[in-house]
Amino acid sequence: MLIKSQPDEIQDYLSDASYMHGGHADRVALPENAEQVAEILGEATRTRTPVTISGAGTGTVAGRVPFGGIVLATDKLDRIKSIVRDNAGGRAIVEAGVRLIDLQRTVESEGLMYPPDPTERNCFLGGNVATNASGARTFKYGPTRNYVKRLKIALPNGELVDLRRGELHAAAAGQITLALSSGRVIHAQLPSYQMPRVRKHASGYFVAPGMDVIDLFIGSEGTLGVIVEIELRLLPKPEGLLSGVVFFDSEESLLAFVREARKRSLADRLSNTDRGSSAPVSEGSALDARALEYFDVESLRFLRQKYETIPTKAIGAIFFEQETTGSTEDSLMNDWLGLLEHHRALADESWFATNEADQAKLREFRHALPVLMNEWFARYRQRKVSTDMAVPDEAFADMLRFYQDALRGGDLRYTIFGHIGDNHVHVNILPRNDDESAKAWEIYLKFIRRAVEVGGTISAEHGIGKLKREYLEELYSEEHLREMASLKRVFDPAGILGRGNVFSEAFL
Ligand SMILES: Cc1cc2nc3c(=O)[nH]c(=O)nc-3n(C[C@H](O)[C@H](O)[C@H](O)COP(=O)(O)OP(=O)(O)OC[C@H]3O[C@@H](n4cnc5c(N)ncnc54)[C@H](O)[C@@H]3O)c2cc1C
Repeated sequence: MLIKSQPDEIQDYLSDASYMHGGHADRVALPENAEQVAEILGEATRTRTPVTISGAGTGTVAGRVPFGGIVLATDKLDRIKSIVRDNAGGRAIVEAGVRLIDLQRTVESEGLMYPPDPTERNCFLGGNVATNASGARTFKYGPTRNYVKRLKIALPNGELVDLRRGELHAAAAGQITLALSSGRVIHAQLPSYQMPRVRKHASGYFVAPGMDVIDLFIGSEGTLGVIVEIELRLLPKPEGLLSGVVFFDSEESLLAFVREARKRSLADRLSNTDRGSSAPVSEGSALDARALEYFDVESLRFLRQKYETIPTKAIGAIFFEQETTGSTEDSLMNDWLGLLEHHRALADESWFATNEADQAKLREFRHALPVLMNEWFARYRQRKVSTDMAVPDEAFADMLRFYQDALRGGDLRYTIFGHIGDNHVHVNILPRNDDESAKAWEIYLKFIRRAVEVGGTISAEHGIGKLKREYLEELYSEEHLREMASLKRVFDPAGILGRGNVFSEAFL
């Protein structure tokens, strides 16, 4: 097993896309199989050495940034072990360090699709499961959780456990009994909070009455065990795709367009809430967006640096994707054009794509904004001030207005963009110096409080990590945080794993 300890060799493992400073570790271990992972953890528990798990480091909340101890890097767990077809699509068995983009390309070449699509596709699948990542297609297909059938997990004491969806559930009152192959039995109690009723949620441990125990590990941000191997559900690849970036010169029209596209898309579907259920699939010829993404006027101002053809009178845009077949493509195109016309979009100046090359260009446009934002944060060496809240359906319009009222006409630069179909837009405030940063964080706290007040979540997809743990106290009570810490202690008695992620070490 490769161990790195020279400062220049380990530098890349000390930060992530949060740009949090000060990360340090004694060494980085790169295990090549599950047994080596278990061995590292067993030894770390015996010596009480902190272990931070590293995926690809694309996380934005400093989850993989270590503060002492060792980094357990999953880079060498990079095998796609098998892809098998079945009647519903198929399944893939992958190690934790497989890059999402590699899996997506491989399954697509076999006529299959792995739906979760966090914008940054260089992330590892282990990181995706650890953060329950989601993205634009989550509007139709739900988050990573919905595709995880089995996990092989190395627990902090060095034991390996296989959890298959459907095989082990918590009792109605929240007790978990997990028998390990060593004969040891783990008894744990789930925290007593109720998760917010939103379509996406990645804040703290997943908890639901009678839940599948596998769901506890999904989204646990490297605090309960190392995900070593994952079995994923795959779907058939859609025959065709229609996508567009459509511009509007009136916000009222844009929001009315979203409301109607959303309502018609959701009409046929089963519930798509993030409750560990299987993903909904609606088929046929009805208008059915798989992605509905928003760009406000400030986002367009930013993007004009790269895309000069954005219409000058546009005050906002929506990126949409709709799956098609040879027989539905024309009628669906007409449906979308009808909807755009009805809501007075700038249809002639909008961009549409029906082939893969053009679609890649539109996706590139969608992806350019978060990348430009991250470059800004790196350039000004300011901590990222980026919201990730989702709110219930009925609260979204007011929440968007609340964001705009707080920022419009002020000195701070900002953008509002993202997953409007899921009532989940990112507000990025772009401070240029420490004063602006202080103002931005004050505003951020107001946004967090308002989201909680209206029944929303403080992080819908990026997780809590180290950057947002103080804000988790706005969502859950101190008692709830203690319950989370007690649960962690059952799996990790020496408290070695992912220290400082999700809740402060003080709770341990
Ligand atoms: C430009 C940009 C856009 C993004 N857009 C999205 C988006 O649309 N949706 C979204 O959900 N996220 C998004 N992200 C965030 C990020 O891509 C996801 O959080 C991703 O899932 C992180 O994966 P990673 O492999 O990089 O994990 P890392 O950053 O390395 O780690 C993330 C966390 O998971 C833990 N972890 C990693 N691997 C394991 C493992 N094998 N077992 C247990 N714990 C582990 C780490 O300790 C850490 O706490 C974006 C990031 C960037 C930079």
